[in-house]
Amino acid sequence: MIAELSAAMTAIKETAGLAKVINDAKTDAEVKAATIELQNKLITLQAECFSLGDVIRLRDEEAMHLKAKIAEFESFKSESEGYELHKTEAGSLVYSKHLVVNDVQITVNACPSCFQQKKISMLQPGVDKVVKGSYWIHFCPCCNSEFKMDKTPAANKSTPQVRRIDPFGGRGAW
Ligand SMILES: [Zn+2]
Repeated sequence: MIAELSAAMTAIKETAGLAKVINDAKTDAEVKAATIELQNKLITLQAECFSLGDVIRLRDEEAMHLKAKIAEFESFKSESEGYELHKTEAGSLVYSKHLVVNDVQITVNACPSCFQQKKISMLQPGVDKVVKGSYWIHFCPCCNSEFKMDKTPAANKSTPQVRRIDPFGGRGAW
């Protein structure tokens, strides 16, 4: 049993006992003494009820908090469905999912550290930095982490571009 509840029950029992003492009292002095004690017990009882109210309120808050946690968990469970860990060409690990938008299949990537915190944050192309080295840079709008993604089309070209040099060194007027 909750400690505060058993304290309140004890106070009620003692108060009832004092009512019996008043009832059985033979003299005015006995009645007066028992009445004062009864009043004190009632004050104690009132305090115990307040404590009990606090306990109930705390439990309600705890229950609400847990319900919110469960809802959060369940919503993440359905939101994260279909996401799988994927390694980009640059070696970054992200969570990916294939979606069909306007009859076109696209791949959305989610931030792995936000994912661990039960948040789906879709990676977006970098704003200040779109490419680094040969890779696209995407960032997480939630935690601002940057990720090296796949190779850019330019980096994918197998033969490096070589500028043709005019062997005659002329102005190309011929
Ligand atoms: Zn993130």
